[in-house]
Amino acid sequence: MRPSIHTRLVNGAFGDPALLIDFKFERRALLFDLGDVTALSTRQLLRVSDAFVSHAHMDHFAGFDHLLRVCLGRDTGITLWGPPGFVEQVGHKLAAYTWNVIQNYETEFVVVAHEVDRDWRLRSGRFSSRRAFRLEDAGSRALEPGVLLDTPEYRVRAAFLDHGTPCLAFAFDEAFHINVWKPRLRALGLPTGPWLTRLRRLVREGAPEDTPVEIRWPDGRGERERTLSVGELKRQVLELTEGQRLCYVTDAAMTEANAERIVALAAGADLLYIEAAFLEADVDHARRKSHLTARFAGELAARAGVREAVPIHLSTRYLGEGGLLEREFQQAWKGAGNAAGPRQASTGASP
Ligand SMILES: [Zn+2]
Ligand SMILES: [Zn+2]
Repeated sequence: MRPSIHTRLVNGAFGDPALLIDFKFERRALLFDLGDVTALSTRQLLRVSDAFVSHAHMDHFAGFDHLLRVCLGRDTGITLWGPPGFVEQVGHKLAAYTWNVIQNYETEFVVVAHEVDRDWRLRSGRFSSRRAFRLEDAGSRALEPGVLLDTPEYRVRAAFLDHGTPCLAFAFDEAFHINVWKPRLRALGLPTGPWLTRLRRLVREGAPEDTPVEIRWPDGRGERERTLSVGELKRQVLELTEGQRLCYVTDAAMTEANAERIVALAAGADLLYIEAAFLEADVDHARRKSHLTARFAGELAARAGVREAVPIHLSTRYLGEGGLLEREFQQAWKGAGNAAGPRQASTGASP
């Protein structure tokens, strides 16, 4: 597989959560959570089109100011996504500053904030530099359950977790890559051209195999035309490879309801980032703070059958002893031996 994105856990396993998903072949990046993002370069931050915020605890959202500071002058604006109450919270952040000068800037800078509720209804607010970032209602609409953003290149899904407050976990599913085998095209006497874009779109949309694709092109004797089916073209000139699937989970209480949602969201992911805040020995503390232990997190990775897993958001009480959390996590994940769920007795999980 040719990876077309790369990811960076901005502050390592102990730092404030922020995951950068950077598209190699596009001028675009996404952020999952907005903890401290000062370690990212201006160039990287300017690529961020959308930031998905799990919840507005400070360690996940305090980086908003820095992102805004860096991006203000650009004309593309920024879009933020978060749990219930988020639009108002973004409004309060923006209202904390004085904006008497920016109204006169030539470029308009717009922050769009979306908040999703448990019924998958999206409510949106717009904040424009021209109006001193005062909230303008941007309406609401129903989402396909569990899907925040659906583009031809990727999807962002979410799950609602309980963390004493609603908290969103996110999944990034890259669409499959569609490569055209140019030598095969030539061998079949077919031209390149806009029809290939049409074909790609049909394949992405899952068009039936017998869907006709008209190919027209001029040659020395005038216009030529051929019609082939999507199925034939898929077999003869296209190469389809799976896109990457990432999942990002933090913060969550150790309940079976959370476990089921996390497993469903992360099922079969190539890479899972999951909080492993506390050692199982400190499970009471983890429960009080509505966080996962490394063991519980590792068991979820096993249940979800992910290919790779990275424990994140480790409590700084273990600074210098990250290896302990890592080992507990690995044992629960790989030493599980079977796909048994988190042990109710050991975790005391209650739905
Ligand atoms: Zn939190
Ligand atoms: Zn946190």
